[in-house]
Amino acid sequence: MMSRRRIDSRSGAAGTTGLLSDINTPICSEPFESVYEITGELGRGKFAVVRRCVEKASGKVFAAKFLKKRRRGRDCRAEVVHEMAVLEMTRNSARVVNLHAAYETDHDIVLVLEYAAGGEIFDHCISDELLPEAQIIRLIRQTLEGVHYLHQSSLVHLDLKPQNILLTSLTPVGDIKIVDFGLARRLGAVGELREILGTPEYVAPEILNYEPITTSTDLWSVGVIAYMLVTGESPFVGDDKQETYLNVSQINVDYSRETFSRVSELAVDFIRKLLVKAPEDRPSAAECMSHPWLWQQSLSLTSDPSYAPRPLRERSCGTKWTMPPEDTEDKENMIESPHSHAKKFRLEEDGDF
Ligand code: ADP
Ligand code: MG
Repeated sequence: MMSRRRIDSRSGAAGTTGLLSDINTPICSEPFESVYEITGELGRGKFAVVRRCVEKASGKVFAAKFLKKRRRGRDCRAEVVHEMAVLEMTRNSARVVNLHAAYETDHDIVLVLEYAAGGEIFDHCISDELLPEAQIIRLIRQTLEGVHYLHQSSLVHLDLKPQNILLTSLTPVGDIKIVDFGLARRLGAVGELREILGTPEYVAPEILNYEPITTSTDLWSVGVIAYMLVTGESPFVGDDKQETYLNVSQINVDYSRETFSRVSELAVDFIRKLLVKAPEDRPSAAECMSHPWLWQQSLSLTSDPSYAPRPLRERSCGTKWTMPPEDTEDKENMIESPHSHAKKFRLEEDGDF
């Protein structure tokens, strides 16, 4: 199982610098299990277990993230409070999971979160049947909306990966919810942010090089996520950590037609623009939103009534595909598109490195 790797940190105060501490949600001390019934497990990380639970009074389902207060012998309450504070700051975005309540037990703080019943988009990256391109486009667009919202709030997620982008439902494929704000940071609060964190497979080169972190770091991850949804492969993963780091720092990416069969050339163009070494050369979330890949009329979901998944096995057999006509409409028209979310968009274990 993929897990977060957190390393510290030549910045000395990693984990304490720039943490938010203002929260409005009360942390209830009443026993969690007197209010909720636990009905299963949804996920597990190094310091957190996420359980499905039902609020007894309402019958509503939630996801309860049990976060250890002590980790590696250190009091980490401040990190948990920070994660709550970030969730509170993003409360108005439909693309970010909502915080419903918080509880405290002997060992944990429990964040009661909106339940995303469709699971991780990761499952769609490793499945034998990849999602149709039109669906991928919709999910990437929603992810960009969330990322844009975060960046407008001066927040960076820093751990965007297919395991942290969930779906509201599985069939039909629902809307995305961004989760896991444990590594999220507020930019600009305490000077420059240079932390080394994340999961090697998904981290941007500037993180490996201990260079300043900006909003562009999240856009790298969006490129990796798009790559994985479209190809079913992780672009940088190597046989071991060293090889993965080397692939990231050399931007060693396979863009071959075999890997990208049966998806449009525009998808490749979108990904190529994000997986570039210099953060300043990556488009912003807002700029990504106007990339023609996300506006291909010929791939609209309405013209794809079957929602048929693309069989992975067929992808590499040299099937001929035609490139859809490039969308030449200007941005004004795109914003009027019925599929548009652009209006809302006015305004995102193993040890150390
Ligand atoms: P960690 O910090 O341990 O990675 P996450 O917040 O990413 O914790 O949660 C771990 C996993 O639990 C997620 O990858 C997902 O599979 C599941 N999960 C988390 N939040 C929810 C939620 N709100 N609804 C459904 N499943 C969730
Ligand atoms: Mg996670």
